[in-house]
Amino acid sequence: MPTRNHKRAPRTKSKADIARTIELMTEQYGPFTHEARLPPTDEMVFTILSQHTSDINSSRAFRRLMETFTTLDDVAAADVEDIEKAIAPGGLAKVKAPRIKEVLNRILELNENLDLSFLREMPLNDAKAWLRQLPGIGPKSAGIVLSFSLGMPAMAIDTHIYRVSQRLGVIGPKVSVDKAHDILESKVEPEQVFNFHVSYINHGRQVCKAQRPLCSKCVVGDVCPSRKKFMSKADLASLVRQEEHIPVGTSGAPLPHVPHPATVLKTNP
Ligand code: SF4
Repeated sequence: MPTRNHKRAPRTKSKADIARTIELMTEQYGPFTHEARLPPTDEMVFTILSQHTSDINSSRAFRRLMETFTTLDDVAAADVEDIEKAIAPGGLAKVKAPRIKEVLNRILELNENLDLSFLREMPLNDAKAWLRQLPGIGPKSAGIVLSFSLGMPAMAIDTHIYRVSQRLGVIGPKVSVDKAHDILESKVEPEQVFNFHVSYINHGRQVCKAQRPLCSKCVVGDVCPSRKKFMSKADLASLVRQEEHIPVGTSGAPLPHVPHPATVLKTNP
């Protein structure tokens, strides 16, 4: 009889463990404030404009779009070529212009107007499903609209959050980014979703970088299963000795330099 390989999936962090990482990172990079964002449909258009583009260029493209057309209803009715000209400063205008027009017209078909604030009254999964039926709107874009514009506890997982979550064992190593949205929504308390989002992005940008993570300066290093992979044995041994002898900070790890709030990067969903 063929033998089955019963390799057990690696254990992932519990809700309480994750809450602790959010707390430590928020102490390190926060406090974070909810900035007023755009209305939901504007946020969706802005999200499309920000794909593969810097914040500065996507903001410029969005401003130009609204200066040119004034309302999103006018954008929905405009020629694709005119939308393309207006958003040219944001890059990839040939791809984004038809997408914006298509999404706006689909919303009009489904809802008769472009006001998406009704989503706030829906259960989270229904609101996500409603947005996901729009062309080209994946879980991240839906999460941005729901969480940042409507204040709902939806995840919007970018490359930093995904990488940090995998390295920390918050999600398993083989979990797809799409699936990670559902898993993380079930493992992070709704009132913690915003802090999770911003703190994990800050951590990914500043410390848990893609190429060379700064594990010796990591505020959650002592609960990270990946740390030994990125540090030399000697550095790891020295760090462990420090952790054993310097009871600083609630994690037991020596706290790295705490940046001045003005220098902390703000979220880039
Ligand atoms: S210990 Fe290293 S790999 Fe783990 S979260 Fe910190 S920086 Fe990332």
